[in-house]
Amino acid sequence: MTNLQSGAGLIVVSNRLPVVLRWDEDSVCRIEPASGGLVSALTPVLRDCGGTWVSWPGSGTEAPDPDALLRETADRIGCRLRPVTLTEEEQHGFYHGFSNEIVWPLFHDLQSLCNFNPGYWRVYCAVNRKYAEAIAADAADGDFIWVHDYHLMNVAQELRRHRLSARIAFFLHIPFPPPDIFMKLPWRLPLLNALLQYDLLGFQTPRDQRNFVECVRMLVTGVTIRGRPEACITTLGQRKVRIGSFPISIDYGSFARRAAAVDVAGRAAGLRALLPDRQLLLGVDRLDYTKGIPLRLKAFANALERYPQLREHVTLIQVVVPSRADIPRYRELKAEIEQLVGKINGRFTRPGGWVPIHYVFRSLVPADLLAYYRVAEIALVTPLKDGMNLVAKEYCACSIEQECVLILSEFAGAAAQMRHDALLVNPYDVEGVADAIHRAYAMDIAERRRRMRRMRRALREHDIFRWVDSFLHAAIGPDLPVFPPSTEESPLRRGGDSPD
Ligand code: UDP
Repeated sequence: MTNLQSGAGLIVVSNRLPVVLRWDEDSVCRIEPASGGLVSALTPVLRDCGGTWVSWPGSGTEAPDPDALLRETADRIGCRLRPVTLTEEEQHGFYHGFSNEIVWPLFHDLQSLCNFNPGYWRVYCAVNRKYAEAIAADAADGDFIWVHDYHLMNVAQELRRHRLSARIAFFLHIPFPPPDIFMKLPWRLPLLNALLQYDLLGFQTPRDQRNFVECVRMLVTGVTIRGRPEACITTLGQRKVRIGSFPISIDYGSFARRAAAVDVAGRAAGLRALLPDRQLLLGVDRLDYTKGIPLRLKAFANALERYPQLREHVTLIQVVVPSRADIPRYRELKAEIEQLVGKINGRFTRPGGWVPIHYVFRSLVPADLLAYYRVAEIALVTPLKDGMNLVAKEYCACSIEQECVLILSEFAGAAAQMRHDALLVNPYDVEGVADAIHRAYAMDIAERRRRMRRMRRALREHDIFRWVDSFLHAAIGPDLPVFPPSTEESPLRRGGDSPD
């Protein structure tokens, strides 16, 4: 594990705290550590160096004595937590507004879904300033501050006003768009300049890194860009900003171990008994328009239409995890998905037997999610665009029999690493995805094993712990390492579908 310089503290800053707040029936608020790879990878580092996690605890945290509750959790997690509380107006303009109605769709190339309300930008700046004040209250010279994700792109700029001598790094979990899309943002220049206030900028893939550098090249004057792939920008003020790509990963060991557990094996066997004599296809997505769920359903229907031999021999389990239910566009998406599922099941269901799509609209308990991963022969991961897509990686980690096929969108960040062994598809190409479904269905066991073995080996090597380590090395070390060894090749220029 990377050691920070002795005496230096680590401050992690994110939109959400690494804890979840739960109210029981007596309205007593309990705080529990959040699940997820990032939290489990970062908390040991924070614990080691006595670090702090700064973030918004979410709405509804006007809990009785939140400070005491956070202190109690900090004892259990082992690091200090500093909540940044937001008013309702701030939540609206910063979180729902600028973050989720502008940056989220724009950075996923869906500019037509943006609501460029000027008021949102002002609240975004004010909330980023509020975060900076909370950080400054805790930080000391020499600390390392690691800011996460698109909600907090302005934090370094705001922190610089506090004249703190600390290294500040940023990791963007979502994609960074190409210049012709980024240019649509009315606040493109202040946002780029704010990002250039970080000492290290980390992106998910070389593509995102390149897009950012291209935007800087086109819009910011007086900078020098060096390195191939572009790794360093020097600003007019002679500050050096390092740029790198660090594809995020999962706790591979934990997924593989838990998938092999008796409990999960039992649940997987139960599912198999309910849906025997067929191959199971699995989709697991948060309810979000970037995930491409309606197009995937159309592709599945197209496969049943054009390859009748699939009928009664495949079933699609589509899990949709509720998300952002208060936003009308998400409610419309849910209605569209349900209508499509109904239409496809109405068209193909066989009386007294086979139903082509099993639709699950809820959050799964971990053991059920792992059982689905373990039992499904084919995963359909077809986002229109995605920073990484952890479901693709978790599926491979849980495919312990190694007889499974991953169908993966070439616009998911994961495609940069998995392009040789997944079946890559263009999610907009309904017939192309249908062909991939048929190809996966017909793929022999030896080829499935070969592909899955290679993906699992790569994931085992490049897990979330290595990701944290490599980011910290890049941030505090003398050189900018490339992680993992990056081929600058685009997933589109692959010869990747060949078996070996
Ligand atoms: N997931 C979950 N509950 C579920 C289904 C999935 O917590 O019922 C998790 C899944 O394990 C994965 C995450 O949700 O870690 C989805 O991450 P991904 O990168 O695929 O997409 P995101 O939702 O972050 O855009």
